[in-house]
Amino acid sequence: MASPPLSTTSHLPSSKQPHPRDQCRRRRRHVAAAAAARDNSTTPTTATSLIPDTLREMAAEGQETRALRELAATDRGRAQLAREERAARRRSLASAGLPPFSSALAAAGLPPLTRGRASILQLNVGLRCNQACTHCHVESSPLRTEEMSREVADRCLELLRRAAAASNATASAPLTLDLTGGAPELSSQFRPLVRAATAMGVTVIDRCNLTVLTEPGQEDLASFLAQHRVRVVASLPCYGESNVDAQRGKGVFERSIQGLRMLNAVGYGASGRTKPVDGGPAADGVAPPPPSAAPPHDNTPHPHPPPLQLDLVYNPGGAFLAPSSSSLEPAYRRELREAHNVEFDSLLCLNNLPVKRFADWLQRSGKTGEYLSLLANAFNPAAAAGLMCRDTVSVAWDGRVYDCDFNQQLAMALMIGGGGDEGEEEGDGGRASAAGAGSHPRRPLTVFDIEDLSELEGRHVATDAHCYGCTAGQGSGCQGATAAG
Ligand code: SF4
Ligand code: SF4
Repeated sequence: MASPPLSTTSHLPSSKQPHPRDQCRRRRRHVAAAAAARDNSTTPTTATSLIPDTLREMAAEGQETRALRELAATDRGRAQLAREERAARRRSLASAGLPPFSSALAAAGLPPLTRGRASILQLNVGLRCNQACTHCHVESSPLRTEEMSREVADRCLELLRRAAAASNATASAPLTLDLTGGAPELSSQFRPLVRAATAMGVTVIDRCNLTVLTEPGQEDLASFLAQHRVRVVASLPCYGESNVDAQRGKGVFERSIQGLRMLNAVGYGASGRTKPVDGGPAADGVAPPPPSAAPPHDNTPHPHPPPLQLDLVYNPGGAFLAPSSSSLEPAYRRELREAHNVEFDSLLCLNNLPVKRFADWLQRSGKTGEYLSLLANAFNPAAAAGLMCRDTVSVAWDGRVYDCDFNQQLAMALMIGGGGDEGEEEGDGGRASAAGAGSHPRRPLTVFDIEDLSELEGRHVATDAHCYGCTAGQGSGCQGATAAG
């Protein structure tokens, strides 16, 4: 469904001359309407892939060096790289006179982080991406080839099925399957996972980079997502072209807008049209969306499907903290609506964690210490309660289990068996499984080592200096701010 053309005057009292600000808006809407007439199409106007441009930019910026090093490294070599990265961060923190993360928790009277009931299963289904963003904590690019196997995906679905049955039996909160990558849609397991999980009545999130919708072979992606009522959480770190292209690659903004239009055209983001912009009205001439279906109380397929939800994600373009979404969302809505004729439901504002490519950028810019100090000095104990590592199980493409996606990239796996751990900040507390402790060599836990996600409850979370990124300011996690208010 294409967005209806915007009326330029319906919100203005006929007896008044338009205010200059409104005249300006009218001009912009006129431009947007003309652009929409040209661009609003479910068929990408660009039939070519972004990948050749991404590879050229990686080569020009020397970015492919680390990518190739990661790719060539053995499993042990990757763990060593991650250990070195973590040790360098701890040294920066110490030389700035700042305490380890666990000490900050203790000083605030908080116990070490432990895992609660898992309500989100987050799968990193593969590291391949058509982009190579400067802040990427996953070090993704078109050069990465790692991808989840059918065997691992099936095992994850089995764990999801058992968890869904348990939550239905106890009438506890419904489960979410959160698919990430890389560009998760490029993984061969993406669509089978979506089909199977939605058939169970589980809510599915697609962490989408938007440009993937314009890739050859993905022409039906928007309608596939809509058909399965997948919630789309899409990265768009700014509403301005130059900022987005600087962080995510040349041409990414234009393709992202194209991707947003494709999602709007199949019904995503409809609730956004009823929301006013910064100091202005709701979109003109747009009927409010039908009343929302009541949220599902369990994982059974819902008779009245929920609206197609499209949320955008902002992350800072440099070494500073994310603002609150309430302060930024109106400006996003105004710019995207008036200049590009696109709508979204809500904006999530996340901090950049000093991990992988963003950590490299900080290092090259000489800003590592400054940024870690910013994060540590903004430590907010209230943000610790909602940390995603408490209720999310993160599974890597190879089936290893982690407390979160960041720990995944830093080779901080949950472990099984006896012996030493892979270099957490302060020991491993209760992380060894009771079944394996002491009787087998210590190794990373995989989805094949557990029968049920509930086995992970109560385990200590592995923390290190990067965790300050999640507790700074309003807090930050995959679902947005972690501190109430
Ligand atoms: S940040 Fe997202 S879109 Fe950018 S390279 Fe990483 S995975 Fe791809
Ligand atoms: S990085 Fe954040 S989510 Fe991950 S373990 Fe640390 S505090 Fe928890």
